Amino acid sequence: MAVWSEGAAALAQRLSAPRRVAEGDAVHVPASEAPVRIHLALQRRSDAASHLWLQRAMVDEIWLERGKWRSASQSFFHPDPDGPAFPAGYVLELPPGDADAAFEGRDVDLLVRSHTSVVLRPQARTDDEIELARQRTGVLAGALYASLGVLAIVALSLFAAVRDRVYLALLAFAASALAWLTASNGHLYAWPGLGWLAFWGAQGVWALALLHCAAGTWLAQRYAELDIAAPRVNRAADWLRMGALGIAAVSVLRIDVLAGAVHWTTMVFGAATLGVGIASAYSAVRQRIWNSLSVFTMVLVLAGACALRGFTVLGLAGFWVRYGPQLALTVCVLLLTIGMIGRVAHVRDERDRERLARGDSERRLEREAARAELVQQLQRRLRELPAGDLEWAAFRTVFERLLPLLRLDSAALVAYGFHGFDLLLAEPITRKPHYTELVSSRVGMMKGLARMQAPVQLQLGNGDNDASHCLYAVVSLPIRAPGWGAMLLQRMDGSSFSDEELALASEFGRLAVQHADEAAAALNLRRSAELDALTGAFNRRTIDLWLSRCFAEAHRDDALLSVLFVDIDHFKSINDSHGHAAGDACLRQVSDVLRKELHVTDLLGRYGGEEFVIVLPGRNGDGARQLGERIRAAIELLRLDYEGKPIRLTVSVGVATRLPRESDPAAAVARADQALYAAKRAGRNRVNVAPAVFS
Ligand code: GH3
Ligand code: MG
Ligand code: MG
Repeated sequence: MAVWSEGAAALAQRLSAPRRVAEGDAVHVPASEAPVRIHLALQRRSDAASHLWLQRAMVDEIWLERGKWRSASQSFFHPDPDGPAFPAGYVLELPPGDADAAFEGRDVDLLVRSHTSVVLRPQARTDDEIELARQRTGVLAGALYASLGVLAIVALSLFAAVRDRVYLALLAFAASALAWLTASNGHLYAWPGLGWLAFWGAQGVWALALLHCAAGTWLAQRYAELDIAAPRVNRAADWLRMGALGIAAVSVLRIDVLAGAVHWTTMVFGAATLGVGIASAYSAVRQRIWNSLSVFTMVLVLAGACALRGFTVLGLAGFWVRYGPQLALTVCVLLLTIGMIGRVAHVRDERDRERLARGDSERRLEREAARAELVQQLQRRLRELPAGDLEWAAFRTVFERLLPLLRLDSAALVAYGFHGFDLLLAEPITRKPHYTELVSSRVGMMKGLARMQAPVQLQLGNGDNDASHCLYAVVSLPIRAPGWGAMLLQRMDGSSFSDEELALASEFGRLAVQHADEAAAALNLRRSAELDALTGAFNRRTIDLWLSRCFAEAHRDDALLSVLFVDIDHFKSINDSHGHAAGDACLRQVSDVLRKELHVTDLLGRYGGEEFVIVLPGRNGDGARQLGERIRAAIELLRLDYEGKPIRLTVSVGVATRLPRESDPAAAVARADQALYAAKRAGRNRVNVAPAVFS
């Protein structure tokens, strides 16, 4: 309808006064809703010709008329279903009886209805000439389409193999070329199931052309790595691509008013894409990208061919003008594909290197995290442990981490004189017999290896006749001489350890030793500060603190609490008759007996001289008295022997219980002391419970 609005008068004039054109001349047919009539003067050489032949252009309908006679009409978008698969041109039957007619009488009217302006070059042709043109077009178009289809599949395969987006761009380029060429040659609509694409008419073809431009730009960017090589061209290419996709979207809307503008914009975008193509190919040549020189040459050829094709507007037409650029484009895709197959190895190498680097840094991070976690865990676990436990606990912690980290089958610790202990620890524990056997025959060798600074890897078997030698890493530990120690690591698959892995194991071993040393030192310090050196019971200061704490807690919880004072009877005389050393031995023996009688929650302290205090949380006076009685009886039964001389001991015990509302130990301690004093006065070797209040 758009054309009608340009003026019915102009149209009427055009219809009423048809242009007169000689056969073989180029005719420019403007876009029009109504048919344009062209008066065609046939030449003499067309005598034998039975048909008028026109190269296919995007017309909606075309036919011949002379008077009442009218040929069958043909259409670009609705090809004859019985016609060839790749129709070459419009073949219009000339009016019958031409051969006899006078020269002027043989003129015919060519009627063209087209939504786009087209250039036609009508030529009378013989059947043979038409057949030849048909064959040439069929063969070439078929070859081009098949090549593009195969190249698209190759691109897809390359993408599947390498997963680089450049191959996706190649796929888009080849596939869009196939779609655009088949559409612009008018072949797409003849294929079964694709007739509906005619709905978009010429605008559909332009949309495909624009898609192809976008794909071409994308491929050029990726192929020449423009983002790095030429960022400015790359940015321009980005805009070009977006623009092409935008116009393609507009084109698909099929707005007739915009058809002319879209047509011209498509051509501009085509030229710009060629420009980007040339620039990218040139950049690729400068970067010495494989095969880029031939691609560059072919892009230039393509540009030339397209320029030539542009002359069809000026009237230049013919088989090669139409198919030359298409051939050049297909060869271009072919060369690009060959180039990109060559790049597979390069892309793979690059990706492998990247993956390795990533794996490396990931591993490093993982190990750093494992190291930090190990330090935390060592600090937490070793804090509460007694000497003798913390050494193996430290290495058990290390093995828990090392086993999964280094994919170990088993690991063992061999240490001699580590904080005074000899250790053989295996992880998992079921492997302990294996390691015991392995090490027992090689203590000397192990000692030698442990003295070496660097870790070593060696084959070891169990015994001389054991053929199954396994690879072990021996990692020495920084244990203070004359002690020594080493870790033995064995891997599941028998593969050797990398330097980095050995360094990690060394580091973990060093951390274990360091933390065990620190924990042992801290333990010693705490002991000397808290404990009485002779008996191992709490010293006066510590037991006073505990007394206060226990009284406060019992007061808060309204709980039972008793205190026991134990004093050795006539101890002075033991010192006097057996000597001070014998007195010390007696003190140690007594404290051992007391400790045996206590629960884990009870506390034993040396209050001074030969006097012990026992704090009994949760026990009433009766319970405390019973305990005191047990202690008294146990000491009485004790048979001591100092340097062959028997020593008999007895103790007196004073018992006091916390009174309600008593939150401080002073009064209870005084009561217990008084009860003890009373026991002494009453003849010693007895237990005396303090009354609630002493008179
Ligand atoms: P009682 O039955 O009244 O308790 O008589 P006792 O001799 O046990 O009491 P006394 O307080 O008179 O004597 C305590 C002695 O304990 C004095 C001191 O020589 C001795 N003594 C104190 N501390 C130690 C020690 O650490 N080692 C040794 N061997 N003797 C000690
Ligand atoms: Mg005494
Ligand atoms: Mg005393």
